[in-house]
Amino acid sequence: MTRTTYTCDGCGARLDNEKDLTKEDGRVRPSWKCRRCQTSVPPVVAERLTHQKQHGRE
Ligand SMILES: [Zn+2]
Repeated sequence: MTRTTYTCDGCGARLDNEKDLTKEDGRVRPSWKCRRCQTSVPPVVAERLTHQKQHGRE
């Protein structure tokens, strides 16, 4: 299985799993933000990340 990572536009952090994100409940669907700088993460990407288990070092 391919692992998804996303580099935050705001702070350049590598977002790798749910713990790197902040969930914000929206009216239709939750939105996701970078935990460090609160920059929005595209929902499609965030959905994938949240379904990944946290990994050790790779
Ligand atoms: Zn960020």
